[in-house]
Amino acid sequence: ASSPKYLTGDKASINEFIDKFDTFLFDCDGVLWSGDHVFDRVPETIMMLKARGSSPLTSHPSCAFNSYSSPSGKRTVFVTNNSTKSREDYLQKISNLHIPCEKEDVFGSSYSAAVYISRILKLPPGKTKVFAIGEAGVEKELAAEGIPCLGGTDPNFRRDMTPKDFQALADGTALDPEVGVVLCGLDFHINYLKLSTALHYLRRGAIFLATNTDSTLPMHHSFFMGAGSIMIPLQYASGTKPLELGKPSQAMMDAVEGKFQLDRSKTCMVGDRLNTDIKFGIDGKLGGTLHVLTGVHQKEDWDREDAVAVPAYYADKLSDLAVVA
Ligand code: PLP
Ligand code: CA
Repeated sequence: ASSPKYLTGDKASINEFIDKFDTFLFDCDGVLWSGDHVFDRVPETIMMLKARGSSPLTSHPSCAFNSYSSPSGKRTVFVTNNSTKSREDYLQKISNLHIPCEKEDVFGSSYSAAVYISRILKLPPGKTKVFAIGEAGVEKELAAEGIPCLGGTDPNFRRDMTPKDFQALADGTALDPEVGVVLCGLDFHINYLKLSTALHYLRRGAIFLATNTDSTLPMHHSFFMGAGSIMIPLQYASGTKPLELGKPSQAMMDAVEGKFQLDRSKTCMVGDRLNTDIKFGIDGKLGGTLHVLTGVHQKEDWDREDAVAVPAYYADKLSDLAVVA
């Protein structure tokens, strides 16, 4: 693949870049913020993109009726693999950081999974329940789609396994016969009971889904166990791979496209991770991918021979686009 184009202080090339697209899909952590720290001038950058069609340049009377006078600016969508939060939770977080956003602009991996289960999977009657490994974000999004859910944050699964539990799983009395899906997301209370229960559902034919398969969770300038690393033991024990619903899965891209009526050729994915964000955009045949260097992957990562994806553009940080504001 050819080298990415570096977007830096030059207004003309940044304008040209922005003008290619009508929609920007933003990864969140590592692009907009790190943990609870919003990166400098990110709110202004998103505002600039949203206001783009009515910027002083394009709303000048001399061009008020020409093709540059689009009444609405760029569409900005926040696409995150974080399954622990619902869209509502994310909206709260994004708004608290003063980034302009509405609930409909948020697309998380728990929502992606819930939409996939309710609208794409045709679960037979009597097999409509989900056994979830995950936090409240998974439960809330399943509930919003009217999907009954077991496991999750239920305290009855957040405990040590007893000899009775072994027996009840083995003979099936601990299992709900209506469970048709095992959904695995990041669970900060993962334990032997939950994994063993999920395994028993899988062995009885439940469909295996994962909200996302991030190997690690970057936090506090370090790396913790990601959703994928929680899921792998289940894949190993059951001998089946889950269908992934987060980036880079094209199931998520299809869902985003359906919801936002994307013109893929005019959409740009912005991210910090090559194997999730940039691969997501490339596999989805989007018009562009922009890699920012404020997160997980750096230039060396796409220079490597075995680089999993190479972006079309890169910038040191997202707010470098704001030079045109
Ligand atoms: N999963 C969890 C639980 C997270 O907390 C995060 C980042 O905050 C992610 C995944 C990665 O999210 P993103 O796709 O926005 O980088
Ligand atoms: Ca990220």
